[in-house]
Amino acid sequence: MDLLNTLVDKGLRRELPTREEALAVLATSDDDVLDVVAAAGKVRRQWFGRRVKLNYLVNLKSGLCPEDCSYCSQRLGSSTGILKYSWLKPDEASKAAAAGLAGGAKRVCLVASGRGPTDRDVDRVAGTIKAIKEQNEGVEVCACLGLLSDGQAERLREAGADAYNHNLNTSEGTYGEITTTHTYADRVDTVNKAHAAGLSACSGLIAGMGETDEDLVDVVFSLRELDPDSVPVNFLIPVEGTPLAKEWNLTPQRCLRILAMVRFVCPDVEVRIAGGREVHLRTMQPLALHLANSIFLGDYLTTEGQAGQADLEMIADAGFVVEGADEVTLPEHRAEAAGSVCGSHADAGCGSHADAGCGSGCGSHGGVAATATEPRTDLVAVRRRGAGTDLAPNA
Ligand code: SF4
Repeated sequence: MDLLNTLVDKGLRRELPTREEALAVLATSDDDVLDVVAAAGKVRRQWFGRRVKLNYLVNLKSGLCPEDCSYCSQRLGSSTGILKYSWLKPDEASKAAAAGLAGGAKRVCLVASGRGPTDRDVDRVAGTIKAIKEQNEGVEVCACLGLLSDGQAERLREAGADAYNHNLNTSEGTYGEITTTHTYADRVDTVNKAHAAGLSACSGLIAGMGETDEDLVDVVFSLRELDPDSVPVNFLIPVEGTPLAKEWNLTPQRCLRILAMVRFVCPDVEVRIAGGREVHLRTMQPLALHLANSIFLGDYLTTEGQAGQADLEMIADAGFVVEGADEVTLPEHRAEAAGSVCGSHADAGCGSHADAGCGSGCGSHGGVAATATEPRTDLVAVRRRGAGTDLAPNA
């Protein structure tokens, strides 16, 4: 296919595809899905080889959020039955992080629900970062605490944070249909603050909220402009009790096309499969490793993932290798430009709080290319183990 040959050539040269080319990837048929994966896989291998970076989420504060992000199980007035708890103590967070690191993760993503941190919250998180770094040499820490005020990114950087995650989630044009309590511009501002403070920026999206192909291309092109080091791709988990609970718009093939499009637009950036991997890719997860070079190990913020051991077996069976703590995630040219301690930066999960699950008005914005699937509510399990419980974490 000429389109794919062109996109591979551009990806190998780190050249931006046109919007039309990105849209054409999303419009390919299921018959062509293996060709699409093979083409984007060449770009992935050029910049990241067969390495898969593992990241581990620690939900420092769960639920009780005053914001109204419609994909989120932690939103205002949510009736999702998720775990609700206030700030974990540094030693509790460190214990949870240690489980993920022992399972093979090299990055810990510290996430807290809420519009954004107070200065006191930043102090708390600084103590947690210190505890984790003291006990786990070489660990990368990404914070995801919502919208940042002036000076907070710098304070997190001083406290030892390597990265900051805040997702754009969807296109600027549809953002107001997803959330009313803050704006797309607020989100862009926080990503820019993280960048300016020398933190590795991590910012991504949520697919499956009823957006059009144009929306998806818009948000991915906007992300490319923001130039994050990592782009988490969430697939909406329609959690019962959220406004988007009925939005089952994704097929495994659609998810693969979306990941391929992100890879072509952001060829040398860490692309992470975030929330919704098990729910929407299902048995096609191993194919997605040919597109993304990063995943979360184990559970998400408020929902459960497959067993950590199953993640590791999947990676090995698919012919990939877990990236070691001493390996640099990003290609040399990006790691140097980032100039930060970890050369890899990434994460996801938050700012949009990983388990994605959005939904406002979805299925609604028209032009959805995906063929709707039967709801797989059987695959959605509220997290009942790990942080905030007495049970061992999944790692
Ligand atoms: S995504 Fe974050 S800010 Fe929005 S409702 Fe969820 S926890 Fe609150």
